Amino acid sequence: MVSKKEYRGKTIYLCDKCGVGYEIRETAARCEEYCRKHNSCSIEITKEAVYTPKPVE
Ligand SMILES: [Zn+2]
Repeated sequence: MVSKKEYRGKTIYLCDKCGVGYEIRETAARCEEYCRKHNSCSIEITKEAVYTPKPVE
């Protein structure tokens, strides 16, 4: 389930698997589906992220 979150004054949608947030609910749903299937994120999808739970180093 994609969850909603308030972030910097706007509503974003979080992938329930990886916790990455998107402005578009559809994108978060795509991420979650991908994460569930592959147990990892798609770079193609996460490049659209507006919020990341942990900074990638
Ligand atoms: Zn994800």
